[in-house]
Amino acid sequence: MIVLVVNCGSSSLKYELFDIRSESEKALASGVADRVGINGGQQAVFKHHVPGCAEVEREQPIPDHEVALDLVLKTLVDGEQGVISALDEIGAVGHRVVHGGEKFSQSVIIDDEVVAAIEEVAELAPLHNPANLMGIRACTKRLPDVTQVAVFDTAFHQTMERKAFLYGLPYELYEEYGIRRYGFHGTSHRYVSIVAGRRLSEIGLPADEQKIVTTHLGNGSSMAAVKAGRSIDTTMGLTPLEGLLMGTRCGDLDPAIVPYLHDKLQLTPTEADTLLNTKSGLLGVSGVSSDMRDVKAAAAAGNERAQAAIEILCYRVKKYVGAYAAALGGLSAVVFTAGIGENEPLIREKSLQGTEYLGIKVEPDRNYGATKGRDGVDISDPGSPVRVYVIPTDEELMIARDTAELVS
Ligand code: ADP
Repeated sequence: MIVLVVNCGSSSLKYELFDIRSESEKALASGVADRVGINGGQQAVFKHHVPGCAEVEREQPIPDHEVALDLVLKTLVDGEQGVISALDEIGAVGHRVVHGGEKFSQSVIIDDEVVAAIEEVAELAPLHNPANLMGIRACTKRLPDVTQVAVFDTAFHQTMERKAFLYGLPYELYEEYGIRRYGFHGTSHRYVSIVAGRRLSEIGLPADEQKIVTTHLGNGSSMAAVKAGRSIDTTMGLTPLEGLLMGTRCGDLDPAIVPYLHDKLQLTPTEADTLLNTKSGLLGVSGVSSDMRDVKAAAAAGNERAQAAIEILCYRVKKYVGAYAAALGGLSAVVFTAGIGENEPLIREKSLQGTEYLGIKVEPDRNYGATKGRDGVDISDPGSPVRVYVIPTDEELMIARDTAELVS
């Protein structure tokens, strides 16, 4: 089945087209329409890439997501750049939806009720869910006969027990406003934990005994504790702000800091939110950049704030490895994924330094020599009880798989 995966942000539409069969999965094309609607979409950029071919990039006005989708569909069937001959070859569309609240513990076929439910939880993800809905509505208009599926970032973590997802707040706040830990990056944590689980099975550890800590380190970062394939805890909370130090997000924080900022700097709630979400993290601590490559270069050149930013991130990863080993009652594997997790051996090394007592031992040559492969690489010492894997995440493929499975 040909599946179109759509990931809509407020000013972007990312897409990937897959051919999903029981015996093979193939990415046919991918791309992005960026700066959609900004200044009327006058400076929008469209990129389209077919594996094995040069990327096509052009600037053209894209005022809204419907126009962006039109452009994608037109390109997919284009005589030169296209990869299918007609739109009716598309068997289904899978959408990334950021927040599913407590309503969705797995992917679902989209109908009016599902759209209403996604709208209802939009309060919890005001930047993301409305954008995801724009993508769904554009597809409903342009591909009215094609079944659409929603795949939620929060769904994988719905298996958490109450002791992991409740905050120590008055219980009514959970009942009335849904204030609890939801967790995000669920599609990524699920994907890499499946790959790691398969590798552990191959070396003789049965699926129901597997205890895996997954570490997604990108611009946004989170970790999850996965027991026998189910998420039992994760670092992000009601929103994607909690947990690790991220590109521009602060992560874990004493909540009393927020009113203190109000007293000292007269920050309004919105200003405080902006500070915590966009001016903190690697950027705020280092004063250099939100991009790990820049922060690492500055740290190597002696910038102490950049060094501190790296230390905070790695220390937090290590703390959560320990916490999750305790929550899981042991550890079979630690997985690193996403931009930093896949590409920065230094961060992997520092994050796991001193965890040998847990049975974790990274082999430096394997860590620094790790090459990318879909099934990931094992960077641990062959004799260490805990495996450490670097596994490239593929959220789009996971969405395409869920979509094909639900539709067929
Ligand atoms: P997002 O959360 O936006 O998907 P990514 O997973 O692409 O982000 O991660 C971006 C982070 O990965 C940046 O801090 C970047 O510095 C870091 N990174 C390090 N090395 C690379 C690399 N070779 N390619 C891409 N990103 C890298």
